[in-house]
Amino acid sequence: MIIDILTLFPKFYESPISIGLINNAINEQKIHLNIVDMRVYGEGNYKKCDDYTYGGGPGMIMTYNIFKKYFDSHDKGHTLIFSPSGKTLTQNKVKELSNKEHITMILGHYEGIDYRVEKKYCDESISIGDYVLSGGEIPALLLLDAISRYKDVMNNKESVISDTFEENSNGLLEYEQYTRPEEIDNMKVPEVLLSGNHKNINEYRRQRSIIKTFQNRADLFSKVDLTKKDMQTIFDYLKINDKNEQY
Ligand code: SAH
Repeated sequence: MIIDILTLFPKFYESPISIGLINNAINEQKIHLNIVDMRVYGEGNYKKCDDYTYGGGPGMIMTYNIFKKYFDSHDKGHTLIFSPSGKTLTQNKVKELSNKEHITMILGHYEGIDYRVEKKYCDESISIGDYVLSGGEIPALLLLDAISRYKDVMNNKESVISDTFEENSNGLLEYEQYTRPEEIDNMKVPEVLLSGNHKNINEYRRQRSIIKTFQNRADLFSKVDLTKKDMQTIFDYLKINDKNEQY
């Protein structure tokens, strides 16, 4: 898979692509990553890449011209632009993108990019959430990391598909996990996890997932088929908290 990242700040990527999972995917040649310095396509002695907004408004906008110069001499593949007004990134979208042969990512800076870049060159506009960052470098890195999870052969496939938001997570958030020692600072690993009884362990984990989802992301329940037992788990949880006056 080829991934081209078009940025004004190529240095930003030096450290993150040299470690961990992204680095593995690159070394194993699952991902051919090109960090393209868009400053090269700027105009004049100062390599100017931005200009004022027509109609007025604060800040500067990246020009159409620098992207035109780049795309005149490069293939683009499936092209994304990052913007807080794009569609919010989901795990399904990450998976879909990880199956493309070639992706180009367009990153904004300053106040954003001349809209005609999106109109002419982009297949979709992606937001990573309802907050505003100063540039597209972090969103692109985030997407690169999420795609790399599917590309890294060293990674445990089982663990990839059981993570929160993956197909085996049943639409619920992941249950808590523990490792050795069994007890530390008066906190014990739940007994059932030491029992070796897989039926009980699975039931317990389902309960914990239900409670965690109820606490943190009740909106996800609209897409989950809750069983009677799941409902009971929530009622029991509420009862316990009622007693402790914790909510
Ligand atoms: N004026 C714009 C914000 C520009 S922020 C607006 O109000 O919509 C500058 C750049 O940072 C954007 O062009 C985009 O590439 C990136 N960016 C900031 N927040 C983002 C988010 N939540 N998701 C994706 N990209 C984001």
